[in-house]
Amino acid sequence: MDLTRFPRRRYMQAATPIEKLERFSTVLGGPNIYMKRDDLLGLAGGGNKTRKLEFLLADALAKGADTVITCGAVQSNHCRLTAAAAAKEGLKCQLVLEERVPNSYDKNAAGNNLLFHILGVEEIHLVDGGADMMAQLNGLARQLRARGRRPYVIPGGGSNEIGSLGYVACAQEMLQQLFQMGLPLDCIVVTSGSAGTHAGILTGIRGQNVPIPVLGIGINRPKGPQREAVFGLCCRLARKLGLKTPPTKEEVIVFDDYIGAGYSRPTAEMVAAVRLMARTEAILLDPVYTGKALAGLIDLIEKNYFSSTQNILFLHTGGSTALHAYSDLFLKG
Ligand SMILES: *Cc1c(COP(=O)(O)O)cnc(C)c1O
Repeated sequence: MDLTRFPRRRYMQAATPIEKLERFSTVLGGPNIYMKRDDLLGLAGGGNKTRKLEFLLADALAKGADTVITCGAVQSNHCRLTAAAAAKEGLKCQLVLEERVPNSYDKNAAGNNLLFHILGVEEIHLVDGGADMMAQLNGLARQLRARGRRPYVIPGGGSNEIGSLGYVACAQEMLQQLFQMGLPLDCIVVTSGSAGTHAGILTGIRGQNVPIPVLGIGINRPKGPQREAVFGLCCRLARKLGLKTPPTKEEVIVFDDYIGAGYSRPTAEMVAAVRLMARTEAILLDPVYTGKALAGLIDLIEKNYFSSTQNILFLHTGGSTALHAYSDLFLKG
């Protein structure tokens, strides 16, 4: 796969490290757990959206945009990083925030919300949970165009076939590192949200003819629609990349047992997973995505889904900035 054909900006200095989690693996007494540290990516606070924005901002600049607009939840990491990328490119940024949990928007909240303001977001538009976010973004784009602006719309999570190229690039980077480390992997575990990360990694490694299974841990939708979303994006990506065959539907593996009461709603297992990772490896996860995904991995290990000699890689997609908006959960106990 030749990614040089696609315009790209660079927001990272070097490959993110792959670390062996010695103490964490020992505590669980299970397989060898490794972590790909995409929480250490560039732009303010890092996280997986940085890789997608390398391709999305390059496209925005190629199209002559002066403003990027995107959407997300009230503590969206994607919105924070889009604001950061816009600042770095000298573009304006406007956000449409969806209040998925009623009354969860607090204009004075810390975490990502604070960073929206520090990073100079021009305007925040709040909409109710369940709104058609693509329609909201397109409406905002029309308003801006009518005022002579040149907006570029980035879909939620940056998960279209342009943004997902960032995770095809990550798959290439990771396979190169594993080769250099002499590390044969048995499984990759990723958080599966707006689907771009899951689809990009799966399409990227299959595009290199590597058969390692990719497990997606859902944090939002039930398994059926989540698999559809990932598979659909894999097909569009494969077409963009000129691959003869996209990954098959059977290869899109999703678990939906760790969502709890819904998106961004805490679970006791998430809190325990965040604490365990912090206390064994001094690595901070986040309450909405990676904390639930790791809770899923811990549960699968406890159920002997893996054998104790296997090598499992957990992709850390970032998000710890949001911990500062969930302090109540972690101050007790
Ligand atoms: C957005 C996000 C995810 C999910 O990635 P998708 O590409 O949307 O599936 C996982 N972890 C963190 C911290 C995120 O911000």
